[in-house]
Amino acid sequence: MRNLQVNGERLWASLMELARIGATTKGGLCRLAASDLDGEARRLFIRWCEEAGCAVRVDKIGNIFARRPGRNPNLPPVMTGSHLDTQPTGGKFDGAYGVMAGLEVVRTLNDLGYETEAPIEIVAWTNEEGSRFSPAMIGSGVFAGVFDLADGLARPDNVTGTTLGAELERIGFAGVEPVGGRPVAAYFEAHIEQGPILEAAGLPIGIVTGAQGQRWYEITVTGQEAHAGPTPMPRRRDALVGAARMIDAVNKIGHAHAPFACATVGFVEVSPNSRNTIPGRVFLTVDFRHPEDAVLTMMDRELRKACAAAAATQSLEVEVKEFWYFPPTPFEPRLVGKVRDAAAALGYPHQDIVSGAGHDAVYMARVAPTAMIFVPCVGGISHNEIEDAKPDDLTAGCNVLLNAVLETADAAG
Ligand SMILES: [Zn+2]
Repeated sequence: MRNLQVNGERLWASLMELARIGATTKGGLCRLAASDLDGEARRLFIRWCEEAGCAVRVDKIGNIFARRPGRNPNLPPVMTGSHLDTQPTGGKFDGAYGVMAGLEVVRTLNDLGYETEAPIEIVAWTNEEGSRFSPAMIGSGVFAGVFDLADGLARPDNVTGTTLGAELERIGFAGVEPVGGRPVAAYFEAHIEQGPILEAAGLPIGIVTGAQGQRWYEITVTGQEAHAGPTPMPRRRDALVGAARMIDAVNKIGHAHAPFACATVGFVEVSPNSRNTIPGRVFLTVDFRHPEDAVLTMMDRELRKACAAAAATQSLEVEVKEFWYFPPTPFEPRLVGKVRDAAAALGYPHQDIVSGAGHDAVYMARVAPTAMIFVPCVGGISHNEIEDAKPDDLTAGCNVLLNAVLETADAAG
């Protein structure tokens, strides 16, 4: 490890300048994917990359790649970046940090006159947030072959129905490069944690070992509507009472698999939803997350058992339908080790951490060795205009990125 340092003030200044594009009055950002403001941010990023001597290409789904050549142009690049789009009430750091950290790595190498063996590419992925066009992570998803290109371009704006492809065309980012299908030596992504763990532990660096798996369910509980007055308690088939016991069970399952399990019921629909009618039907959703597949399978069994038991107490029917499954994604241990070594060599206190959220890195892990670096954000808050991060932590994460990228790009020969 070489222990090189980035220019933290320049990194912060670039983040703040970028954050002017789409700034909200509450200090956050609204820079939706493929909007005019996204186009403006993209053009600023490209200008900075070209000033740093990079060759910029845009692919057909609008992903931007800025390449700094290596000594051996035939080697696949070491790639790093994130996304420039935000939530409607987003912050200055989610996504932007990873892209600006990649740029700062390149600028630092330029200052040092350092030539790496393999080329380095900074990437800005299209529509990571999935807020304007769903699902999330479309640009990296098409790159990794999870979605096909035509499908990605056809995704509609959730309000106007205009497509992602048409909007990319309009803002000048329907590129000509084929999407993906080329080797990537390694992918690193620096990101704010978007959770409270690092801040609570007082650590500047999280070594992300992977992303947790998810199981999403739709549950329909059916009983019988009846008059709230004349129906004696023992005769009731109250779907909401059954559903309430299921919701409690979901929460208990989450606690039973602490500290890594997450279990949430976030949507409930009661019918007929009338104050003097016993509810006849309830629809609810369940979101389970855990880094280990075996535990997710256990949680699945416990959920089904608990739902059947809760239904039996009220003579209800219950249908538990698995709606979506996303397997846990372990990152590449060798590359994760390079991040850990870089943090140690730089003297930064750190801990291993599992990503609770989805990131472009999760799709990239399917086609390239992948690792992530987390830095704390204030109060663990993200997807919020008050999202904040400390300049020293952002610098620390970028220093770790620089050294991990260098180790990888030079070992490639
Ligand atoms: Zn993000």
